[in-house]
Amino acid sequence: MKKLFCLIGLCITFIGVTAQKTFIYCGQLVDVKNQQMLKEMTIVTDGAKIVRVDKGYTKAAESDKIIDLKKSTVMPGLIDMHVHMESETGPANYLNGFTWNAGDYAFQSVVFAQKTLMSGFTSVRDLGGSGVNISLRNAINKEWIIGPRVYTAGKSLATTGGHADPTNNYRKDLMGDPGPKEGVVNGVEDCAKAVRQRYKEGSDLIKITATGGVLSMAKDGSGAQFTEEEIKAIVSTAKDYGFKVAAHAHGAEGMKRAVMAGVNSIEHGTYMSEEVMDLMKQKGTYLVPTIIAGKSSADSAKKPGYYPEIVKAKALVVGNFIQATFAKAYQRGVKIAFGTDAGVYAHGKNWIEFVYMTEAGMPILEAIKTATVNAADLIGDDRLGSIEKDKLADIIAVDGDPVKDITSMGRVIFVMKNGVVYKGN
Ligand SMILES: [Zn+2]
Repeated sequence: MKKLFCLIGLCITFIGVTAQKTFIYCGQLVDVKNQQMLKEMTIVTDGAKIVRVDKGYTKAAESDKIIDLKKSTVMPGLIDMHVHMESETGPANYLNGFTWNAGDYAFQSVVFAQKTLMSGFTSVRDLGGSGVNISLRNAINKEWIIGPRVYTAGKSLATTGGHADPTNNYRKDLMGDPGPKEGVVNGVEDCAKAVRQRYKEGSDLIKITATGGVLSMAKDGSGAQFTEEEIKAIVSTAKDYGFKVAAHAHGAEGMKRAVMAGVNSIEHGTYMSEEVMDLMKQKGTYLVPTIIAGKSSADSAKKPGYYPEIVKAKALVVGNFIQATFAKAYQRGVKIAFGTDAGVYAHGKNWIEFVYMTEAGMPILEAIKTATVNAADLIGDDRLGSIEKDKLADIIAVDGDPVKDITSMGRVIFVMKNGVVYKGN
């Protein structure tokens, strides 16, 4: 427990005291809705909310606090729609599952949460872990620790032997027969029960693994793993509890079934066909690309012993497709929300996704829109995503102009979440 208190002590030093009102002078301000850069603006915040946005530098009263970002580019807090706060890639990861207790994962996640917030991501969707991610969200909300606002899926749902089956490839006496409680479902009744179990545990949304995946100890990385009826049962039960549904999918058939069944987002989308793209446009389904996860797992696979052989074979193939698919889907008009699969690569480097998105043809201001306006739309929280009156005061600033130099997205010098300053000033 000593470590926790020590960490909290460290964290408290970052928190500034909020004055009556805070006036933030912005040299440049990204107008995310219109994808344009505004010069010399003032944002006024009061408590957790934005109360005004003025042209020019508005004079503050004596009792107000001034934050001078006249030399920086200010934008809404970024939102990553696909992270895993409980873990981070490394050769020991598969063994950790047998040697670590929940407390080890929990303490580690405290470090990742802080890194994520300090890199400018004020909200994230955690798309799958053991349930520690639910406790992490609660600890951040209670201000015990520092981190982004977390919307968590808790444990993701898979079919037996599927991508998120927690005992894949174990020896028989350890394998057991996990069921809906553990996130493993077969048939529509299991599907409804698993969604209700996530509600009981405190999840904010549902994640399913509609196809095979790269990092699981299983041979197939892209085949369909749910029937359309099963996904329909998940989506309709999820609706009863106010949950949205995110579907991990690499192969086109599993993606098609998920889109037809009404999921809200396709994660990764590696082998997406034009037919699926058109269906997504028709249904309004978002693609959350995670290009950085594909590229970094393909790189890691080249290091001897980094992944087990069964994983290495998949990582080398799947990793390189995502960026090209993203480019095609973007050009075809599929809705995009920013997401990186942080944890599959090192936490805190989420901004590199912006480099890959712009490389694939999306202008940076549009890419920032996918990480703010579009992400808030996919989460379904209208308090987030832009700097306007009555929105939550989630505001960040970067050093330099991202339109001229994309690497400025990696130089976050100011972070405010809920009106509290965590970095800078
Ligand atoms: Zn993931």
